[in-house]
Amino acid sequence: MRGDAPPLAGWIGDGLRSVEVTLQTILAAIPGPTEPETVWIHDALGRVMAEDARAATDLPPWDNAAMDGYAVRAADIVAASEETPIRLDVIGDIAAGADPEVAVTAGAAIRIATGARVPRGADAVVQVELTTPADAAGRPAGQRGRDASGQAPARCLVHQPVVKGASIRTAGSDLRCGAVILPVGTPIGPAGVAVAAGAGLDHLSVRRRPIVGVLATGDELRQAGQPLGASGIPDANGPALMALVTDAGGEARNLGIARDRLDDVKARVRAGLVQGVDALIVSGGVSVGPYDHVRTAFEAYGTIDLWRVAVQPGKPFAFGTADRPGGGPPVLLFGLPGNPVSTFVTFELFVRPALRRLSGLTRLHRPVDRAVLLDRTPKSAGRRAFVRVLAQRDAAGTPIRDQGGRVRVTLAGGTAGQGSHVLSALAVADALAVIPESVDVHPAGGEVELWWLDRA
Ligand code: AMP
Ligand code: MG
Repeated sequence: MRGDAPPLAGWIGDGLRSVEVTLQTILAAIPGPTEPETVWIHDALGRVMAEDARAATDLPPWDNAAMDGYAVRAADIVAASEETPIRLDVIGDIAAGADPEVAVTAGAAIRIATGARVPRGADAVVQVELTTPADAAGRPAGQRGRDASGQAPARCLVHQPVVKGASIRTAGSDLRCGAVILPVGTPIGPAGVAVAAGAGLDHLSVRRRPIVGVLATGDELRQAGQPLGASGIPDANGPALMALVTDAGGEARNLGIARDRLDDVKARVRAGLVQGVDALIVSGGVSVGPYDHVRTAFEAYGTIDLWRVAVQPGKPFAFGTADRPGGGPPVLLFGLPGNPVSTFVTFELFVRPALRRLSGLTRLHRPVDRAVLLDRTPKSAGRRAFVRVLAQRDAAGTPIRDQGGRVRVTLAGGTAGQGSHVLSALAVADALAVIPESVDVHPAGGEVELWWLDRA
């Protein structure tokens, strides 16, 4: 990760742990990506290649026409001009998907549709726009180059020469059979599905999606839609983490809301482990208060460290591993602070890269941009702040950049929006701006690193 953090300092002032060391420790606990599985190309979207995929065919498999027109011998029409068109006999008509049986001979042409196989004997396709249909006597029998539908004419007049190879897509010019089209580690987007299908593949070997259990903790939490009563709040983190996991390429499993009781937290952690999760994320209850049972619950199944990370928001953070029931790589255990913005930011910093590594991705972090944060922003000294910001945009919605190419951003929800509980500001933010540990107060207009959050 970039930034102005002291390089791999490990522990920094006040016994805080640096962001880098925290992330390195987490990543070091991941022996590798999940195992490969074979999926239909239709299901491959969002997956990551587990091995190189190679084209199963040349593409195109044979020479085909790039235009509607006539397959010809280029040498026959070198002398063609507007005033003295060359007359060719139309001896056949080839639709896309048809197997051409006739060959083009001297003085002849075969009408051909875009995508149809070029017949033997032809070395160019002259597009219909450069021709006029003619009758058996060679008289124009229709309008110049209007369309190539209906019955093929007996003859055609060609008004311009074309070079050898014109409007022919040669066999293998796009893909060669056996060529690597999707190398291992490639995330598959719609274009990846297209190239795989076009290359004649119906299955791909991809990494299994990491399965991630999500558990919210807190006596005050009520499931979405339930009455809040006298002292309840809606559970924001459970649904948020389910969405974050899905967005990061994982398969989320809802473990519900645990009461602030050790037995309940333990039972739900166990339920997650039994389901065969690759990682467990618990929000809340991770500090050292009397109702904070997450650490003890994790300790019942694995090893866990409670860290004070030099990050704002999100200081208390627990990470460890548990043995996987039935063997295999360890299950990752994450205890995130309960304030919803802290949950979000620590997921972004520490969980998302871990899930991406499990998914088989090699690029673990968001692309980093540069910005100027126009608001003066006080922050905790010695901690790296991730503040929620809005980009200034022009009328078309494009972020405005200064002359140095830096995006102009302001604090989402103003200074008050930066509280670790303020969901309204998080919801409208475009990006996280990173203010280094060394800064106590970010000056208005100072430069920051910018992490765009995925947003339509
Ligand atoms: P905790 O980390 O459990 O001490 O919680 C810190 C703050 O975050 C408290 O104000 C909690 O009410 C709040 N909080 C914890 N979990 C959630 C959640 N799932 N949804 C919304 N707020 C939460
Ligand atoms: Mg709590």
